[in-house]
Amino acid sequence: MSGGGRIAVVGGGVAGAVLALRLRERRDGPEVELFTGPDAGRADASAASGGMVRAFETDPEASRLAAESLAELRGDARLRERARFREHAAVYVARPGTDLAASLAVVEEVLPGAAELTDAGRIAREYGLHGLTAGAPGVVERRAGHLSPDALRTAALEDLAKLGGAVRAGPVARVGDGPSVKLADGSARGFDAVVVAAGAWTERLLAASGLPGGGFRTRQIQYTLCRAARDALPSFVDEESGLYGRPDGPGRLLLGLPTVRWDVDPDATVPDRVLAARVVEDAARFLGTPVAPERTVASFDCFLDPPGLELRPVAGGVFTFTGGSGGAAKTVLAAARAAVRALTG
Ligand SMILES: Cc1cc2nc3c(=O)[nH]c(=O)nc-3n(C[C@H](O)[C@H](O)[C@H](O)COP(=O)(O)OP(=O)(O)OC[C@H]3O[C@@H](n4cnc5c(N)ncnc54)[C@H](O)[C@@H]3O)c2cc1C
Repeated sequence: MSGGGRIAVVGGGVAGAVLALRLRERRDGPEVELFTGPDAGRADASAASGGMVRAFETDPEASRLAAESLAELRGDARLRERARFREHAAVYVARPGTDLAASLAVVEEVLPGAAELTDAGRIAREYGLHGLTAGAPGVVERRAGHLSPDALRTAALEDLAKLGGAVRAGPVARVGDGPSVKLADGSARGFDAVVVAAGAWTERLLAASGLPGGGFRTRQIQYTLCRAARDALPSFVDEESGLYGRPDGPGRLLLGLPTVRWDVDPDATVPDRVLAARVVEDAARFLGTPVAPERTVASFDCFLDPPGLELRPVAGGVFTFTGGSGGAAKTVLAAARAAVRALTG
């Protein structure tokens, strides 16, 4: 589809909101209607997200999107403020023997000097971390950070409305390969393209619409907000143990381990208390200091193998824009631009 036209975006999480805004921002771009979902998006992945952003990802293509997104944030003070961006370092420790060269080359091309290849020993010494696997390769970024996907979504929805995009509350009951959107009251609307950006609800909506599935699965993601006497920590990922975390203000940390709860119902996700207790124990050893849990946040995301937030065709003018697999806060700004290029030619 090139120029003009009408596009519906189904889902008002950060993916749908940023995509809809990017479409509307385009000169001679399409008319855009965004359908935000049953509860205006408040109990979704974007509302719960930890929002860690950095340029490096182990997959080079994901690295490109993450680095481009971080470059956009770095270059736009207003965007940083509205997305509540907080800058801090980020470290990533991969499994021993992993070759990080291709991803680091991409980061160097997009954001020169942003990421440095190092090893677990240096990271452990510099940041006072314990139990990292000796000899494991690592990456340090001095200027990564975290943002609030919820705030970014809100800002995008505001800007979309200002640019004349329509934001409609309430769930879409079905999408059709007309392409069309059918609402709960039975009314149907035709569009030139319909993009389903319904995150963990996407596969369910495709099935309810009688459309081919995209192979998406849901998976629980949870973290625990804790107090610990450790300031000046970077955000971190240790692939071997699975432990990840980030600073959350003075004396506070967000800490998590991957869950094995697949195919969870996004409307009925409850915390895994055993896992939350393990996070506290593992983190205390890792940080070398007591960790006091305050609150566990349990949510979910839409996963795909291979992962990545990307525009994918379904049938007859219907697309999906989801599959962030626990990482779309990092890539959404650039991924939405790529999706707009693919949609509008
Ligand atoms: C706990 C947690 C921590 C995370 N931490 C990080 C991190 O540190 N770094 C990182 O990069 N990523 C992180 N992520 C991942 C990232 O936040 C997600 O990939 C991203 O928020 C997904 O956005 P989304 O818009 O695709 O989905 P969602 O935010 O879930 O939005 C989907 C929207 O679709 C709407 N919807 C559903 N059905 C319908 C319907 N029928 N009609 C209309 N609307 C509908 C829903 O109401 C919802 O608002 C984390 C995710 C979670 C859950």
